[in-house]
Amino acid sequence: MEIEDYGRARVLVTSHGQTFLVDLVSFDLNGGCTCAHFLSRLKPEINRARELGNFIPGHFFRCPHIRAARDFILDQHFLPRLLELYPDNEDS
Ligand SMILES: [Zn+2]
Repeated sequence: MEIEDYGRARVLVTSHGQTFLVDLVSFDLNGGCTCAHFLSRLKPEINRARELGNFIPGHFFRCPHIRAARDFILDQHFLPRLLELYPDNEDS
């Protein structure tokens, strides 16, 4: 998978020659993706859970592209920032 920062918590994920746009903050921070799996299976599950009032964002509602994009943002942005804020935690 190739992953590219697209700005404002959005990430382009290319897999098997197809590129999908992942928005990490949509669906209550679950993330959303333009792939067929998310649009045809996961998004309806999210909407159903929302209607029932029991939607909790998490692994179950994330396609592989959302999971890869979250890892990418964590590794490229948040963890380096945390290391800047708390430098004493490095290699303890
Ligand atoms: Zn996807």
